[in-house]
Amino acid sequence: MTSKQEQSPAATAVPDTVRNYVGGEWVAVEGDDGQPVRNPATNETLAETTFSHQTTVEEAVQTASEAFEEWRATSPVERVQYVFDLKRELEDRQEDIAQALTREHGKTLGEARGEIRRGIENVEVAAGIPNMLREGSGNVEGVARNMDEHAIRQPLGVFSAITPFNFPAMIPLWFLPYAVATGNTFILKPSEKVPLSSQLIFKAVDAAGFPDGVVNLVNGGADTVNALLEHEDIAGVSFVGSTPVAQHIYETAAKHGKRVQAQGGAKNYAVVTPDAKLEEAVPNIIGSVYGNAGQRCLANDVVVGVGNVYDDLREEIIGDVDDLTVGSGLKEDTDIGPLITGESAERVTQMVEAAVEEGADLVVDGRDFEHPDYPDGNFLGPTLLENVTTDMDITQTEIFGPVMAMAQAEDLDEAIEMVNSTEYGNASSLYTENGAEARKYRYEVDAGNIGINIGVCAPMGFFHFGGRKGSFFGDLHAQGEDAVSFYTDKTIEIQRWYSNN
Ligand code: NAD
Repeated sequence: MTSKQEQSPAATAVPDTVRNYVGGEWVAVEGDDGQPVRNPATNETLAETTFSHQTTVEEAVQTASEAFEEWRATSPVERVQYVFDLKRELEDRQEDIAQALTREHGKTLGEARGEIRRGIENVEVAAGIPNMLREGSGNVEGVARNMDEHAIRQPLGVFSAITPFNFPAMIPLWFLPYAVATGNTFILKPSEKVPLSSQLIFKAVDAAGFPDGVVNLVNGGADTVNALLEHEDIAGVSFVGSTPVAQHIYETAAKHGKRVQAQGGAKNYAVVTPDAKLEEAVPNIIGSVYGNAGQRCLANDVVVGVGNVYDDLREEIIGDVDDLTVGSGLKEDTDIGPLITGESAERVTQMVEAAVEEGADLVVDGRDFEHPDYPDGNFLGPTLLENVTTDMDITQTEIFGPVMAMAQAEDLDEAIEMVNSTEYGNASSLYTENGAEARKYRYEVDAGNIGINIGVCAPMGFFHFGGRKGSFFGDLHAQGEDAVSFYTDKTIEIQRWYSNN
C-alpha cells in the first residue's frame, strides 16, 4: 500500500525520465543496459535509467573539450557570474530537489533539505574563486638581475566526477562548481541508483545559462565510468564511493595519466570518556549512527565507553534508541528512512548475524522490522550490539545501515588503539570536557576528520574534506583550497627585460 503522502502534488517535482545533458541540450540516454530507479520506501519504480555507452562518453568529452578553450579565456570574474546564478537557481528548486531526493534515496525530508544546503554552500565558496586563484600562486621580483618570477594558476581541461548514492545532491556539488569556476569544463556521472536529483540539479545548471558544453551530465554504470577513466582528453577525475571502487578509479585514472582524487569508504568510531556531558553526547551519537539510516561515510557506528562511563552510556543510548521512529522519509516525524535497496538491508542483516555468531550481544534487534503502511520498503529498525571486539568483522567493515556496535575500553589509550585498528581513516569523534584528552585524541587518531563533541564532523565548504588510509586515494581533497589546487596547475613564468636597469 502506498500512503497518500507518496502521491501528493509535490511528487510531480520528481522527474520520470532520466536524460543526459550534453552541449547545453537534454538528450535521450543511448545504451543497451539500465535499471529501474526505485523508491526505497515502497519499491515502486520512479523512472528507468539507461547506461550511456562509449559513443555518448566520446561525444560528451569532445563537446567539453571544444568548450574548454573559450571557457578558459573567460575571466574568472565573468565565470563566477554563472556560479552565482547557479546558486539562485538551486535555491529556487531546493524543495523540488528535496522531494526527488527523498523519493529516490529514502532519507528524511529534513536530511534531504540539509544535504542540499551543504551542496549550495560549496557553490557559494566556489563563487569566491577569483580571490582563491590568487592564493598559492605568487610573484618574486628580482630573482636575478632584471628577472622576475611568477606562479600562475591555470585550468587543465575536462574533468569528470563520479559520485555515490548516499548524498545525491551534495556530493556532485563538492566538485562541479570548483571545476568550472577555475576554468575547466566538466562531466558528472552520478550514481545509477539515484539519478533523479541530478536531473533537477542540471535544470538549475541549464537555467544558470552556462555556455554550451561547459557542464555536462552523463548517466551510466561501471562501463560508462571506465570509458571516462580511459579517455585521453579527460584531464582529471574526482570520485566518491566504496573503497574497492575508489582504488580501481585511482589506479586506472593514474595509469591513463590523469589527476585523481578518490574518496572511499569508512569505519568510524566514537569514544566517550567519563568527563563527557552524557546528556549532550547521547543524542549526538544517536544522530551520527542512525541518521541517514546509517548510510553516511561519517557515521560513527562503533561506540566505545571508557571505564566507568560505559554503564550509564549504554543505558541512556538504549533508552533513546527505543524512541526512534522508522518510516517513509516523507513523513515529518520519521527519524530513520529505508535503506537504498533490499540487497543492502539483507547485507546489513547478515553482518549483524555474523557479529552475534562471533560473540557480540544483540541488545536491540531491528532485523525483522516491518512498517504497516510500507510493507514493501527496505526498512530495518535501529539495531544495537554490545561487547564487540576489534577482531570481529562488525568493528572493521563498513556497515552502512542503522546499527550501533558498543564496546568498553579500560582507558583512553586502549580506546585509541581500537579506533586505529581499522583499514580506514575517514573520521572519529571524542566526547569529553577535558582539553588534554581532546588534544591527545586529535594527535594520535589516524583520521582525516576529528570531532570533539561532534558526531558528524563534516567540514564546511571552505575547508577540505579529508580522509586517510583506505578512505582516500590521492593527495588533494575535495572542497575549499584543495579543490582549487586539484583543478589547476601552477605555471612558473620567469621574465627578464633587458631594457630596464
Ligand atoms: P559505489 O562504489 O558502489 O559507487 C560509486 C560510483 O562508482 C557510482 O557512480 C557507480 O556507478 C560507480 N561504480 C561502481 N562500481 C564500479 C566499477 N566496478 N567500476 C567503475 N565504476 C563503478 O559506492 P556507493 O554504494 O554508491 O556509495 C557508498 C560508498 O561511498 C560507501 O562506501 C561510503 O562510505 C562511500 N562514501 C564516501 C564518502 C567520503 O567522503 N569518503 C562520502 C560518501 C560516500
